[in-house]
Amino acid sequence: MAVIGAGFSGLAAGHRLRRHAGIEDFVILERAHDVGGTWRDNTYPGAACDVPSNLYCFSFAPNPTWSHAFSPGDEIHAYLRRCAREFGLVPHLRFGHEVTAARWDHDRACWRLTTSGGAYSADVVIAGAGPLTEPAMPALPGLADFGGRVFHSARWDHEHDLGGEHVAVVGTGASAIQFVPRIQPLVHRLDLYQRTPPWIMPRNDRPLPNWQRYLYRRLPAAQRVVRQGLYWQREATLGAFLGPLDRVTALATRQALAHLRRQVPDPELRARLTPDYRLGCKRVLLSNDYYPALTRPNVELVTAPITEVRPGGLLTADGIEHKADTIVLGTGFEATRPPIARVVTGRDGRTLAEVWRDGMAAHQGAMVAGFPNLFLVIGPGTGLGHSSMIVVIEAQVRYAVDAIRRMHDQGIADVEVLPRAQDAYNAWLDERMRRTVWTTGGCTSWYMDERSGRVTALWPGSLTRFRRINRRFSPVGHRARRWDRIA
Ligand SMILES: Cc1cc2nc3c(=O)[nH]c(=O)nc-3n(C[C@H](O)[C@H](O)[C@H](O)COP(=O)(O)OP(=O)(O)OC[C@H]3O[C@@H](n4cnc5c(N)ncnc54)[C@H](O)[C@@H]3O)c2cc1C
Repeated sequence: MAVIGAGFSGLAAGHRLRRHAGIEDFVILERAHDVGGTWRDNTYPGAACDVPSNLYCFSFAPNPTWSHAFSPGDEIHAYLRRCAREFGLVPHLRFGHEVTAARWDHDRACWRLTTSGGAYSADVVIAGAGPLTEPAMPALPGLADFGGRVFHSARWDHEHDLGGEHVAVVGTGASAIQFVPRIQPLVHRLDLYQRTPPWIMPRNDRPLPNWQRYLYRRLPAAQRVVRQGLYWQREATLGAFLGPLDRVTALATRQALAHLRRQVPDPELRARLTPDYRLGCKRVLLSNDYYPALTRPNVELVTAPITEVRPGGLLTADGIEHKADTIVLGTGFEATRPPIARVVTGRDGRTLAEVWRDGMAAHQGAMVAGFPNLFLVIGPGTGLGHSSMIVVIEAQVRYAVDAIRRMHDQGIADVEVLPRAQDAYNAWLDERMRRTVWTTGGCTSWYMDERSGRVTALWPGSLTRFRRINRRFSPVGHRARRWDRIA
């Protein structure tokens, strides 16, 4: 058995295989040389989770030592390293093993994997290769010929000193709003290129006091209660995303606008920072220091589109060339075209990327017709706009391991979802998605497939419902072959 990726998903899968199915015969193939995924790669200044730490961690591995309500990225990375050790996963980890091809061998009912560390075959593959792993590089003419340094926020160049430089930051998403306030005091000048302003709410972060950490250590039930509170608090905001404008959205919009008014006194700047789409359509961001950073004299918000990158700077549609020594790309990730899809080839010889040409689709975000014994974690239709992805990961891993346990118990060699079951599930998802803010909110976002215009990355419902439908694997709508039917 093979698990791809050693982020939250891969570690959760390894843990569940060992603890709940008693399976030890598996490897976790990881292209990098450490666990951590997102939190290993995103080391930009100010990186932190934007879901409270007590909910943004495994339910079965609470961490009483979080330093903040929203802990910094290096702490989350350290937590994941500790999890890998405590879950007994170290012997299963294969670092420096990038999966470059995974091909289904129907005669032998197994996956043939080619990795940068050697070849493997696996009866089942759990793919936890991450929804936000591959930096999206903007198609800016001339970028390759830029005379200075260019790097993406997910590959921060810590060797490069931004001190005293003229820095261009492209993008105003979740990462940029975290690192802009950190680099603004260091640089000589910061030009921030904004296509669409995000909705930003106050960030209620605070250091967790010693007594609270002591309490969590001595009385783990107290931390579980806090987690439950956070979970239900987040579930209660769902109305703002799923239907027409409601009281929660109206209240949140007023709060966000008041936050902007309080922090940005200049009406002209404020106007350019005011979104013209409905709150929730793009990810709602949390920050107390982003707006103030934009009011500093060394920062300019550039809203004219970039038309070209020249060796010494960026040219915008209004004909102005803005000087730059370094370009930092806060341009997000290839979320709806995951790179892993290009290397996985199914029963009929087509890759997942080919099958997904018109947009990602899967059954319960996990199984894809034509790809037996492949379980995706954070597959299509599983992302959230309102809560913690770790809850989704746990639910999907539970579903996959339940299917694997049943296969073992019943002598089943392979299992595959039927196209009609997958289509029915996706029709149901699309129907629910049609009414949500992600479709009707008047924005384009990374949740949306560029070509089809469908929102393929998100789950259009409550996390509670998602957990319920993934509690157990149901063989209905699947075909299976027993080992005694394999030649
Ligand atoms: C900056 C940032 C902040 C975020 N903050 C939050 C938050 O506050 N709350 C929230 O719910 N979500 C957040 N997310 C989303 C986040 O991606 C998930 O919460 C979670 O970390 C996903 O875990 P994962 O294991 O599925 O993927 P990842 O953490 O991306 O791990 C995937 C792993 O697979 C490996 N891999 C990929 N391809 C291959 C291959 N071909 N062969 C071998 N290995 C491979 C990668 O190297 C990586 O280690 C954030 C994302 C980013 C980028």
